[in-house]
Amino acid sequence: MSDQPMSAESALIHAAEQRELSEPLVPPPMLTSVFVSSGEPDENLAYGRNGNPTWLALERALGAIEDSEAVVFGSGQAASMALMLALGRGRARIVLGRDGYYNARQLADWLRPHGAEPVYVDLQDLRAVERALDGARGVLWAESPTNPLLRVADLAALGRLAAAARAPMIVDNTLATGVLQRPLDLGAAASLCSLTKSASGHSDVMVGAVLTRDPALADELRTWRTLGGGIAGPLEAWLALRGLKTLPLRIERQSATALAIAEHLAGHPRVASVHYPGTCTGTLDVARAQMPRGFGPLLSFELDGGAADADEVVAAAQLIVPATSFGGVGSTWERRARWPGESAPDSLIRLSVGLEPAADLIADIEHSLRTGWPG
Ligand SMILES: *Cc1c(COP(=O)(O)O)cnc(C)c1O
Repeated sequence: MSDQPMSAESALIHAAEQRELSEPLVPPPMLTSVFVSSGEPDENLAYGRNGNPTWLALERALGAIEDSEAVVFGSGQAASMALMLALGRGRARIVLGRDGYYNARQLADWLRPHGAEPVYVDLQDLRAVERALDGARGVLWAESPTNPLLRVADLAALGRLAAAARAPMIVDNTLATGVLQRPLDLGAAASLCSLTKSASGHSDVMVGAVLTRDPALADELRTWRTLGGGIAGPLEAWLALRGLKTLPLRIERQSATALAIAEHLAGHPRVASVHYPGTCTGTLDVARAQMPRGFGPLLSFELDGGAADADEVVAAAQLIVPATSFGGVGSTWERRARWPGESAPDSLIRLSVGLEPAADLIADIEHSLRTGWPG
């Protein structure tokens, strides 16, 4: 087995299984806070905040996706906080995308007294990124595609700028996951993933992870996790691991359906604009190069109308459920500007495409778009 080349997909499916006779094929979640031990403690099998075999299994599976180490946390934000604390120390500036994940921007602002000064730029503007990194010991916190506008940044180009400035680049890879996009191959020091979304995929757990090939950074993140206490529960880790095994299948199907819906909406008389990495002509070459297997489950579109029109459309759906978040097996949508602090256009609807057949989703969207529309 060990001398046989194995794809990341096979490795991730089998990462946590046992092969010994009479062992359970799928190890159950290790629900304990204390392990029997004496003498010199085993760091993973002594006390539940230091380590748990179920996290280790999840970390092995995650590591197979991007050929890296993985450090699992209790949520994507707990992972972001540990990364910002680990990398911000001794650095003057953290450069973030202006339209990056709202909670990451807020967290960077709140952590200012403990680390680097947040500076916001448009990640599509490479000159602006270069200027922001110039002359400061910095960190580049990138995200692509962003949401809700699904803007694509050239991660390889950003990686080169970060390397030239000796700034570690972090990529928030929650939307694409390591299956569609491999930031560690494009110059990132760490790839961040909220497993709450597509990676676990069933809208029933909150877990996060950092993937890195830098053992010193992985060690530091584990220390922040142990001391800060942002650990994942064993049951959550187990559910995330179970979901992860079907991630490649799910996200490729969701990407294909999302592309079909984006193309359908582009010709719709009620739709003013569609945002999807697979249909945005300005960045299509970059998107194809860095997301060769698909463009992800998330798209958004603006109505030719206002907030009330979008609220009506969202409420009219019979299949798509009104809800936030993304990446689950069931499709959900929301008018994004309902969130305070979100800068999305008033009539923008963000749709997370699930595993329902494309024809069912397009019929539901068509039905919803006819509601309250005289045309
Ligand atoms: C949801 C999300 C996070 C945070 O993850 P949680 O698990 O909710 O803490 C970070 N980045 C992006 C892009 C997200 O969508």
